[in-house]
Amino acid sequence: MESQLRTLEQMQLLDNKIGRYRVLQQELPKQLSEINEQVVQATANLLASESEKAEINKKQRALEGEVDTFKNQINKYGAQLSEIKTNKEYKALNSEIAYLKDKISEIESQLLALMDEESEAKTKNDGFKKALQDAEANKHAKEGDLKAQIDSLEKEIEDTRAQRNKLAITLPTPLIKRYGNLIKHKDNLAVVYNRDGSCGGCGFVLRQQMRIELQLREKIVYCENCGRIILDRFPDDSAEED
Ligand SMILES: [Zn+2]
Repeated sequence: MESQLRTLEQMQLLDNKIGRYRVLQQELPKQLSEINEQVVQATANLLASESEKAEINKKQRALEGEVDTFKNQINKYGAQLSEIKTNKEYKALNSEIAYLKDKISEIESQLLALMDEESEAKTKNDGFKKALQDAEANKHAKEGDLKAQIDSLEKEIEDTRAQRNKLAITLPTPLIKRYGNLIKHKDNLAVVYNRDGSCGGCGFVLRQQMRIELQLREKIVYCENCGRIILDRFPDDSAEED
């Protein structure tokens, strides 16, 4: 009987392992898609910031063009001043020149403000470039490994299941069936330990009689509440409970 109990314990350890692989089967693809998503997001951020910068440069060029036009206009008017005959025309032309000079200084303030914007945009842009480099480096470093892990999980599970089944066939068929049902319906946990007089699976307090039976190891003890198989830890037990 004791060897059956030890076999059940070993089977549960293997099922714990399978359970951990199943968690990884859920988790690793998520990690993989996060890594890719980070690159996609960083690329989108960089593109948006590039076009923001380009937009500012476009405004700058347009305003600089206006300044050139106004300066040419002022030069033309300046040349005309010498040929002016009447005081009235002279005044009109002068006020036109003054108006254009005002315009130019207005645009120059706008250009100064745009220089600030451009420098801010450049800082932001540099940050996004760095973020993209980091995201790509992260992808480069982890993607291959993650894919390999994901690919190997199914085989790991199969191998572990085969080990478990090899143990299972040494047990009576009804016990194998019961074990299988518990694994299936009780959170992958069929075999639990007596935890200070309570079921390690559901916490149900064990009757005195059951505690004695657990110590004797002459029969299989099932929890009266959750139905799981309960074991007293073997004195030489090096198995880890998780
Ligand atoms: Zn229980």
